[in-house]
Amino acid sequence: MHPNDPVAWPHGARCAVMLAFDFDAETLWLARDPANAKRLGVLSQGTYGAKVGVPRIIETLDEADVPATFFVPGWTAEHHTGRVESILRHGHEVGHHGYLHEWVDPQDPAREEEIFLKGLQALQRTVGVKPLVSRHRSSVGLRWPSKRIAALHRLPIRSVLAARCALRCAPMAARSLRHLIRDATLGYRSPAWEASLNLMALIDKHGLRYDSSLMDQINPYHHVLADGRRGPVELPVHWSLDDAPFALFSVKSPRTIVSNEQILAVWQDEFSEIYRWGGLFSLTMHPQVMGRPSRIALLRAFIAWMRSFPGVWFARGAEIAQAWTDACLSNRGIAP
Ligand SMILES: [Zn+2]
Repeated sequence: MHPNDPVAWPHGARCAVMLAFDFDAETLWLARDPANAKRLGVLSQGTYGAKVGVPRIIETLDEADVPATFFVPGWTAEHHTGRVESILRHGHEVGHHGYLHEWVDPQDPAREEEIFLKGLQALQRTVGVKPLVSRHRSSVGLRWPSKRIAALHRLPIRSVLAARCALRCAPMAARSLRHLIRDATLGYRSPAWEASLNLMALIDKHGLRYDSSLMDQINPYHHVLADGRRGPVELPVHWSLDDAPFALFSVKSPRTIVSNEQILAVWQDEFSEIYRWGGLFSLTMHPQVMGRPSRIALLRAFIAWMRSFPGVWFARGAEIAQAWTDACLSNRGIAP
């Protein structure tokens, strides 16, 4: 299997769709300038994401019956705990997104690890999600019970929540499917997609299983660690599949806010070709951007449009990373 070949997605799906929401809230503005802590108007843009954006997005995802991944900075989890709990309660995945949305300093690896841990610990302390470190873990990546993963692949999100008690526990642990969704943070997305050379070792060291910060592929791939082991799975991203370049406005660096039609044109063109390639359509959104009324309408319409294609698999990042690992195992020795 060549890295550019169509991926063998679960159940014969042609294309995987990862809907990701970076729940930065006020951290986006605090990280840009600490003085923004005293600028209520600037901060209120981020607050909107927590007050209105997240609940409207959850409502839209519920209506469409599709799962999503929310990458959450530790500060956001501390200050908007109820909102992050609601994300988990509705069956979505919570991933790690730094602490205060700090850009990494490649010259200061100790500080980088300190921030990494601070964010991870905040997620665990506030909403109870933590890395799923298992003694069954191996260098190939995720080692989730296959029965559970099969169930996740097969069931729409409401069915997952309804049927979780009916599923038998798999051998790795006595955790239920509910716990798997609610208790684990398995993915990392670096703030502003800035990543140091040290990042993959950090992700591996602290028990996370995938990263979603780099732009060098369409399909997922495994990182290779310094000792030659397979490291985290990468779920690639790109600015063209991010709402921020189209609609995140800042007085200090103003840009035109474009129409839904313009955003839709780019996203549909990208999707159509990624679908043809059999790859991963990884869409990044922000509650403070996508939670605006017209953008919620865009989200609803775009999900419906993607669902009109046969064989589209909507999944959380952890499921996609697992599916990629499974595909690699079934192509032993030749997968990236
Ligand atoms: Zn962010």
